[in-house]
Amino acid sequence: MSEQYDYDLIVIGAGSGGVRLARMSAQRGARVAVVESRYLGGTCVNVGCVPKKLFVYGSHMGEDFQDARGYGWTVPEDQLRFDWPTLVANKNTEIERLNGIYQRLLENAGVTIINGTAHIADEHRVMVGEQGYTAKHITVATGSWPVTPDVPGKECILSSNEMFYLPQLPRQAVVWGGGYIAVEFAGILAGLGVDTTLLYRGDLFLRGFDEDIRRFTASELPKKGVKLRFGVTIESVTETNGHYSVALSDGTTLDTGLVMAATGRRALVDGLGLEQLGVQLNPAGHVVVDQHFQTAVPSIFALGDVIGTPQLTPVALAQAMVLSRRLFGDGEGEMDYTCIPTAVFCQPNIGTVGLTEAEARESHGKLRIYRSEFKPMKHTMSGRDERSMMKLIVEDSTDRVLGAHMVGPDAGEIVQGLAVAMKCGATKAQFDSTLGIHPTSAEEFVTMREPVAP
Ligand code: NDP
Repeated sequence: MSEQYDYDLIVIGAGSGGVRLARMSAQRGARVAVVESRYLGGTCVNVGCVPKKLFVYGSHMGEDFQDARGYGWTVPEDQLRFDWPTLVANKNTEIERLNGIYQRLLENAGVTIINGTAHIADEHRVMVGEQGYTAKHITVATGSWPVTPDVPGKECILSSNEMFYLPQLPRQAVVWGGGYIAVEFAGILAGLGVDTTLLYRGDLFLRGFDEDIRRFTASELPKKGVKLRFGVTIESVTETNGHYSVALSDGTTLDTGLVMAATGRRALVDGLGLEQLGVQLNPAGHVVVDQHFQTAVPSIFALGDVIGTPQLTPVALAQAMVLSRRLFGDGEGEMDYTCIPTAVFCQPNIGTVGLTEAEARESHGKLRIYRSEFKPMKHTMSGRDERSMMKLIVEDSTDRVLGAHMVGPDAGEIVQGLAVAMKCGATKAQFDSTLGIHPTSAEEFVTMREPVAP
């Protein structure tokens, strides 16, 4: 390692990808510093995956109390209370615990943590305030930040960042957008008793997911109290004494206590000085890198949300492992973006891996589609009108399973295992020869015998 620099590697951003890269590289003997201006753990730990999932648990419990009645429990309606500040405070305690774990992980690996905002002054120098630090390699792992469209009254619209610290719950809420964050937050709010309307500009939300999954989810969310309005968008928001009047593109107006936008996230590169150095950004604002995460400036690398690959923690972690190995290990390995499983923690959950039916039709020709829809066993006695759906997409000529999709409780937990099988190239015959675990919902994935469509 070169002594000509203060460090072998400076990582800018201590989120999922940055921390993994710093830690792995330090464990390989590199001298590493990580610069962070906000919080350790990045979006995932602080204002993303982790607190979101805690809120989803909290929100779903209301339904569990109701469902318990069918099983003989007395649940007096007038004694059920929910206290939002308690949920937020307990969530904050947990997040602080995780911040501490991240700090110890870095320190124990010998990584120097530098608090402050980084600016890359030249290809080997990072400035944090007045202080300059040099490194052989610099990696930008600064993540992404919510974007709210420019509409009059934009300043009244919250993003997911603020939702995690909301002082109190409103009676009514409008959620704007139709992606992961919108459906997850709509479910959280509705589950906690907030009268929630989700507005989406297109015909059907969750663009990019399998069509059946999108339709099925659209039929389930209203049963949980989420009002879906498609084909409309927000034109302006006006605030009067903490109440909001939302003017919509169809000429109607919604009165509400909170407006949240979940309309996508942009790469967070402000103030880094990348373009002045010759690092390219694409039209969407993402840092352009090659397959080795190298930018147009050879000593500068980037990974995670900032490069526009799927904005998922496990993707950033995997990229970090590949880059660390390339810079300080045996140099082997490339990132594999096939078969990335993902879950959306709306209620019920979505779990998905592999191709959608539309993608498979385009790339693989003749298919067999298997689909099953049923009432989960738990709800035979809870009386709840909730259904699950599972779908397998199989290439007819090879029998290979190309896609597995599910809407239902614990869909993410179930699909994770299927992702392993699909990485191994599992065929439908192998799914069929696998015994089910009875009685579970998951067994449906190995008992679907008749294709529903050619
Ligand atoms: P997404 O890109 O998933 O969704 C953005 C939504 O906002 C889309 O429905 C989009 O519509 C809509 N939209 C975009 N611009 C406008 C506009 N100008 N006016 C009206 N609507 C607009 O972004 P999210 O913010 O939901 O999430 C960002 C990413 O974070 C996700 O893609 C995902 O990778 C990650 N994430 C993952 C989670 C998980 O793993 N469970 C949870 C949360 C986030 P259209 O479809 O028409 O473009």
